[in-house]
Amino acid sequence: MTYELRCRECGKSWGNQPRSICEDCFSPLEVGYDYAAVHSVLTRERIAQRPPNMWRYAELLPLPADYTPHLPVGFTPLLSAPQLAKHLGANRLCIKNDAVCLPTLSFKDRVVAVALAQARSFGFDTVACSSTGNLANSVAAQAAREGFKAWIFIPADLEPAKILGTQVYGAKLVRIAGSYDQVNRLCSQIADERPWGFVNVNLRPYYAEGSKTVGFEIAEQLGWRLPDNVVVPMAGGSLITKIKKAFDELIQLGLVDPKPVKFFGAQATGCSPISTAVKAGNADIEPQRPATIARSLAIGNPADGHYAIKAITNSGGWAEDVSDAEVVESIQLLAESEGIFTETAGGVTVGCARKLYQEGRISPEETTVLCITGNGLKTTDALAGQYVAEEAIAPKMSVFDKYLESVLDSAIQSRQNAGATVEA
Ligand SMILES: *Cc1c(COP(=O)(O)O)cnc(C)c1O
Ligand SMILES: [Zn+2]
Repeated sequence: MTYELRCRECGKSWGNQPRSICEDCFSPLEVGYDYAAVHSVLTRERIAQRPPNMWRYAELLPLPADYTPHLPVGFTPLLSAPQLAKHLGANRLCIKNDAVCLPTLSFKDRVVAVALAQARSFGFDTVACSSTGNLANSVAAQAAREGFKAWIFIPADLEPAKILGTQVYGAKLVRIAGSYDQVNRLCSQIADERPWGFVNVNLRPYYAEGSKTVGFEIAEQLGWRLPDNVVVPMAGGSLITKIKKAFDELIQLGLVDPKPVKFFGAQATGCSPISTAVKAGNADIEPQRPATIARSLAIGNPADGHYAIKAITNSGGWAEDVSDAEVVESIQLLAESEGIFTETAGGVTVGCARKLYQEGRISPEETTVLCITGNGLKTTDALAGQYVAEEAIAPKMSVFDKYLESVLDSAIQSRQNAGATVEA
């Protein structure tokens, strides 16, 4: 085995087992690798010859020795975003588009893929999770494909599309009358009692490693170069720390040239324990009670909050947060400028990026990657009331001509009413 669990604080090695906390010092466990062994086999050329999915970085993932993946997860597009760049006052802007990650249209497919590989090798026949929505979809779908039974625990008031998008795969869905943080606490208790593989509880160290593939792909898609800045939405705070770990590993293995990268964290103001701590200069978070439409990010007591703060501040980055109204505007801005429909978490990323450029914390000439982590079709309720359905017209040319005239007239009129203001 070229990897094992190690305590992040005391360094004690725990081998490989379904466990997320060090029993000696109660700190989180992290997967460590034998990088010398990886270095001797992993080259850019070898990676390039493999299929375009996250398994091309297998040597840097904690996978069982005989593991054969079934699903082509990841390797989502890295797109240049010239129109959005104009709106933000940026010059070199890219979007990592996990709104189209397969199989369930969010970056959570990456973490679940790794967790289920380990669930099988640990002998679990049932997998489970506590979820703010996307994880639920991904565990349910991949459990169906891999032949696991699945138990999914969610706050009762999640978006309908995320509930349906879990049930359709035949998973057992348990709706809890409480917040995500309460759901998560319950799951920790259940994990102690039952022989279930909870992907984000007892399998968490393995699960979290899947997020590194976002970082590997960004570097490879930039031509094996690191960006200057990344803007990452934060819930539990794991993804942002794992993109950093990915970049550090690529440097260590000589796959990219060393270069400082600034990490910028994005949250919704209604649930902003990490950005609040960064702004206040605190090393630890103070838990919050979430109140935001960005449900996928609504974790008031983030498990990796402390480490996210550290990654951000040590890199010279920053954290921002935006109101729900800004989330909606930013979803619309990304859709209208780049043709990408993201969920509320993506609105948080774009809205925070806009602020970071305005504040001068990101310089326009630097290469900046925005992480769009989920798909807008799952959170259409966030746009309720934004678009009125026009009255239907008869299928006749004459009626259409009249209709067009009235539409153009009212457009002219509203422009006149708005005075000579510039186009927004
Ligand atoms: C879970 C999630 C995140 C944040 O992930 P963490 O690793 O918990 O910080 C970001 N975006 C979306 C869409 C998510 O579902
Ligand atoms: Zn320890």
